[in-house]
Amino acid sequence: MRYVSTRGAAPELDFAGALLAGLARDGGLYMPACWPRFSAAEWRSLRGLPYAELAARVIAPFAAGSIGQGELLAMCRRAYAGFSHKAVTPLVQLDTNLHALELFHGPTLAFKDMALQLVGHLFEHVLGQRGERVRIVGATSGDTGSAAIAAMAGRRNIDIAILHPEGRTSEVQRRQMTTVRADNVLNIAIAGNFDDCQDLVKAMFADEPFRAEMNLSAVNSINFARIAAQIPYYAYAALNLGAPEREIAIAVPTGNFGNILAAWAAGQMGLPVARFIAASNRNDILARFLAANDMSVRPVEPSLSPSMDIAVSSNFERLLYEFLGRDAALTARTMAEFRASGRMAVAEPVWRAIRRQFQGFRLDDAATLREIARFQQESGYLADPHSVIGLAAGRDCAPLGLPVVAAATAHPAKFPEAIEKAVGCRPPLPNHLAGLYDRDEIYSRAPADLQAVETLVRNFVNRN
Ligand SMILES: *Cc1c(COP(=O)(O)O)cnc(C)c1O
Repeated sequence: MRYVSTRGAAPELDFAGALLAGLARDGGLYMPACWPRFSAAEWRSLRGLPYAELAARVIAPFAAGSIGQGELLAMCRRAYAGFSHKAVTPLVQLDTNLHALELFHGPTLAFKDMALQLVGHLFEHVLGQRGERVRIVGATSGDTGSAAIAAMAGRRNIDIAILHPEGRTSEVQRRQMTTVRADNVLNIAIAGNFDDCQDLVKAMFADEPFRAEMNLSAVNSINFARIAAQIPYYAYAALNLGAPEREIAIAVPTGNFGNILAAWAAGQMGLPVARFIAASNRNDILARFLAANDMSVRPVEPSLSPSMDIAVSSNFERLLYEFLGRDAALTARTMAEFRASGRMAVAEPVWRAIRRQFQGFRLDDAATLREIARFQQESGYLADPHSVIGLAAGRDCAPLGLPVVAAATAHPAKFPEAIEKAVGCRPPLPNHLAGLYDRDEIYSRAPADLQAVETLVRNFVNRN
């Protein structure tokens, strides 16, 4: 499979190239040159497979030319072996037509493990083939950093340094990063906020000599390999609910638009998905766009679902590119205007075409707490403050008469304060994390200063 940039001015790459590049050199995002399509018979043949086998079969066409089927299957098996549920992504029925697709049984209890666990193996494999070594640097406000560290710890040819704002992540999130024992992992607590951390990472990438010396890399949510690794669980859910003979709808609690884009990709591959619901918290740029063609940037407001606190959904560019008929020049112009004006101009017919498949949904913090209590009462199901937004969105479209799959993206034990506010008690950590509060933490500390952080990273890399 070849990969092209949504902005049309970067070199085409194969899967391994797109994996290592992340963002395209023209500022665009890599997309497969075409969507592989499975026939109804091919989909039926995937029913009942163990998750890792299903994942390897669905991802294979995207990796074709870079990674052989047998190697891919071996990597999928290793990636999902550490999950704490044998089904990996169990589907739990909450109402006649409402099902929670649980994506949080990985090592850090959030859906980012679904993609990053596999991406860790993909990186190790491709770097080994090329005889290269990379240093991954990233900033986190919580979920992404812990999932990236869990995926990269102990991998050959990779060092990983994650910056977090000191004292501003939850204790569970911090401990999931700082209690990992591996020589190739560096945690840096920055005296500042998340924006300071992100600015420092950007500055390291902009420092050409440092970037080249370290061979810097990133694993953020715009990496296409992450999207590819998120398609199989939608296939798993659809097949279990009667696809390809029966249509479904999919509701996803959305931040950067990566997870719901993967759901849409499953539709492009031939699964019958009639409707996609993008569910937001108070940071509702997508809901405003889908309701009234108003894609205008507003400042981020903190919410009970911090992993969805975004001003702009970066993966939306991929959907835009598709609905602009894969016109890269027009996509590039639209994005440049959006960047300059803070408002995206999408022509009415294009907006209508998107609306035929997508609808928005929004839930503020007070309603989020009420919904957590309501799902607990009506179905005995305890959902975290992210998942519950998708579940409430899914219940809203149950009148369509289709089975609705709502992505459950985090384990409730990851957000004990919000759960306690909603239902009066704190959920216990699952067994495999029971010792989290007793383990020693190791991390470095630094001021929000580029020189100081680069010195820490350089010393860490030279030690390895
Ligand atoms: C990252 C995250 C999301 C948002 O996913 P996107 O792919 O960015 O839309 C939702 N819920 C949880 C728990 C997350 O960690």
